[in-house]
Amino acid sequence: MISVAGLNKSFGGTPVLRDITLDIAPGERVVVIGPSGTGKSTLLRCLNFLDRPDSGTVRIGDLSVDAARATRPEILALRRRTGFVFQNYALFANRTARQNITEALVTVKGQTAEKANATADRILAEIGLADRGDSYPSALSGGQQQRVGIGRAMALDAELLLFDEPTSALDPEWVGEVLDLMRKLAETRQTMLVVTHEMQFAREIADRIVFMDEGRVVEEAPPDRFFDAPEDPRTRAFLRRVT
Ligand code: ADP
Ligand code: MG
Repeated sequence: MISVAGLNKSFGGTPVLRDITLDIAPGERVVVIGPSGTGKSTLLRCLNFLDRPDSGTVRIGDLSVDAARATRPEILALRRRTGFVFQNYALFANRTARQNITEALVTVKGQTAEKANATADRILAEIGLADRGDSYPSALSGGQQQRVGIGRAMALDAELLLFDEPTSALDPEWVGEVLDLMRKLAETRQTMLVVTHEMQFAREIADRIVFMDEGRVVEEAPPDRFFDAPEDPRTRAFLRRVT
């Protein structure tokens, strides 16, 4: 079980996350939606302490990290259990697709180069880039780069994958292939927390939709109920704007 309890985060005295509580079951696919500036990215970043929460607890399985007294080893352990897919891919420009995937396997997971390369080749095949392992990011399309970004997270075999608007920096022509890869991953029942504006995709893959507004979880429900019978007026207003 993954759980976030009483998470708060302010930037410069402005509260961005207000007492967020969220539980995610193993194998669950949760989609977070909400207006921009509402704290969705901050929530994902606080989950693995890329941003340090001001208060609250993040628990993944038997590891519980309290913001008030988190130690460096605890934070690293938390990061080993999560994979992060960034909006702008965040690939190393001076490393090949294969090296982008092996990097964390060697540095974070302590794998030998040989084992990491074998994992990377398996992942490259799974993301449909078996023949592009030696290509540098600049030689890949936006869609291919983001597939490498997802492959890098997949390779870690993490208990939780976090996706922060993985298709919103892409030209429209590349969105489909990235969503297809995420659908495939969702079918394996990888535990996923996905921030996206792709409402149709959210409805298809989510077990649960979480709607955030002004740093709070306003409403959460299975997709059919969420989209067809939203309860909170803020959810209704948002859905009217985006669907
Ligand atoms: P969302 O992902 O929902 O669009 P964010 O989590 O990116 O929202 O941002 C929520 C609010 O926090 C915004 O007002 C944003 O400007 C602010 N914010 C995010 N990160 C920082 C930061 N590192 N420093 C200062 N303000 C930040
Ligand atoms: Mg964001």
